[in-house]
Amino acid sequence: MMQIKLLSIPTMGRLRRSRAHHARRDVHRAARTRVRTRDLDQIQLIDLDPKNRAALEAQPIDFDRPGLAQHYCVECAKYYETDNALKSHWKSKVHKRRLKELKEPAYTIEESERAAGLGRESKRPSTATIPDADGDAVMA
Ligand SMILES: [Zn+2]
Repeated sequence: MMQIKLLSIPTMGRLRRSRAHHARRDVHRAARTRVRTRDLDQIQLIDLDPKNRAALEAQPIDFDRPGLAQHYCVECAKYYETDNALKSHWKSKVHKRRLKELKEPAYTIEESERAAGLGRESKRPSTATIPDADGDAVMA
């Protein structure tokens, strides 16, 4: 049973639940194009390739990036200021959930074509069974 703590701010008269976001931080921010980071499929298909990963983890010093681009989490496509910040990020819930999301197969062009009935070597059954398992992003 999760405890929901209500904390009131007397001057504003507004009640706000703490722990309302389950560590899903910056959801609105992430949706903005200005701060858009790499998509999961880009990370999964490109960045996690061992040689790409090595290049990302040993980036040249970049003064425009946080921490001079020396502490980068490949899975989350995020720069950290210090080595400690990166290490504590690796232990965090946000990062672990990301690892889990990356284990699921990426949404590829082949899959979208299959969904649209354009599959080249389509071995679809003659009966019109639409695979409904696609798109069911189960949040555990
Ligand atoms: Zn991470």
